[in-house]
Amino acid sequence: MIYKRSSALFAEAQKVIPGGVNSPVRAFKAVGGEPIFVEKAKGAYLYDADGNALIDYINSWGPMILGHAYEPVVDAIVEKAKLGTSFGMPTQIETQIAELAISMVPNIEMIRFVNSGTEACMSAVRLARGYTNKDKIIKFAGCYHGHSDSFLIQAGSGAVTFGSPNSPGVTQGTAKDTLLARYNDLAHVEEIIAQNPHQIACIIIEPVAGNMGCISPAPGFLEGLRALCDAHQILLIFDEVMTGFRLAPGGVQELKNVQADIVTFGKVIGGGLPVGAFAANTDIMSYLAPLGPVYQAGTLSGNPLAMAAGFAMLSELNQRREIFTSLDQKTKYLHKGLSQVFTSRGVAHTINREQSMISVHFSHRPVTDFETAAEAASNGMFNTFFHGMLDQGIYIAPSAYETWFLTDALTYKDLDQTINAADHAAKLLT
Ligand SMILES: *Cc1c(COP(=O)(O)O)cnc(C)c1O
Repeated sequence: MIYKRSSALFAEAQKVIPGGVNSPVRAFKAVGGEPIFVEKAKGAYLYDADGNALIDYINSWGPMILGHAYEPVVDAIVEKAKLGTSFGMPTQIETQIAELAISMVPNIEMIRFVNSGTEACMSAVRLARGYTNKDKIIKFAGCYHGHSDSFLIQAGSGAVTFGSPNSPGVTQGTAKDTLLARYNDLAHVEEIIAQNPHQIACIIIEPVAGNMGCISPAPGFLEGLRALCDAHQILLIFDEVMTGFRLAPGGVQELKNVQADIVTFGKVIGGGLPVGAFAANTDIMSYLAPLGPVYQAGTLSGNPLAMAAGFAMLSELNQRREIFTSLDQKTKYLHKGLSQVFTSRGVAHTINREQSMISVHFSHRPVTDFETAAEAASNGMFNTFFHGMLDQGIYIAPSAYETWFLTDALTYKDLDQTINAADHAAKLLT
């Protein structure tokens, strides 16, 4: 495929936008080459600036679960826009989407809308600290909760469980309050709690991880965290920015039947517009301003266009629940097809999948945490595979650490085309 126009647009963008992109993973640094500039998209397909058609497995990193430019969502935005685009005053659509979200998700009674997943997770942690009157948080290596300071933490050296900043600009002072645990390692979490008695406000986790490839919680892991939180007066935060309204109408709480204290949302809940949210029971949410002392605000929060898009999206998912089954079946079909292709070509692989999230790792070893994900990513095979797929018009996430997201707009013909492309790309790996 030819990317002449994309290349020219990228050169122009780099002069005025750092790295030419407004979010780093878009720049293709991990896989090499240059990003593709999108002109438009419809259903399962992207159309780029050079007129190439690509089957999309990123779907805006998850939100476009019903396909691009999905008509009921687009119509809702257009109709709302005609009535004014922002007021900084309450509107009824905010209550409508709040009622709908609460009816779909277990264990929540109130919800606050913000503008991104980052904001949702940052606010959820502040609320947990305010509610418990404790400072420290536990997060898991490889889980992503947005780019706010307390989450940009990497493992400290040696036996020290304190994190250290993994970006300049994050202070040591912030880092010392974030404790880092291994995903799927309950004993490690127990150890950290024992080392920091009465100091931990919350444990925040992607209950199905999607930012180190797709990693499922081991049986008993989430239940174990729930029990530890109950025993030590710690709040359990499920970051469902990626999994919420995707893996099940009620997210991982419903899928795995484990109750969180605070849940965060983003991506699907905005129907493709910038929306995040965090939710809990009335007791916890009452700590939030203006009801309570924990401050949180936003000029454009609950923006009518964003709420209309989100409401249209959630309404479709709520009314057509068979979508979750058909997405699961399509992803299972893709999983099986890819597996057969790699096996027949003698390519070492591990495929992780949970409902409509799937990731391919070029290693024989199970991928269950950040360490094993990093080991699988280290051989460079993913990058070869990525470009092999792209050359055939299949757009998967440009990093070995990202999950593929399926959309309901994908047909079995698209999936067959993808599996066929993977067969050709697999030849490059042997
Ligand atoms: C995408 C993501 C975020 C951050 O959301 P933004 O809208 O990009 O700020 C947080 N948590 C998880 C699990 C995510 O996948």
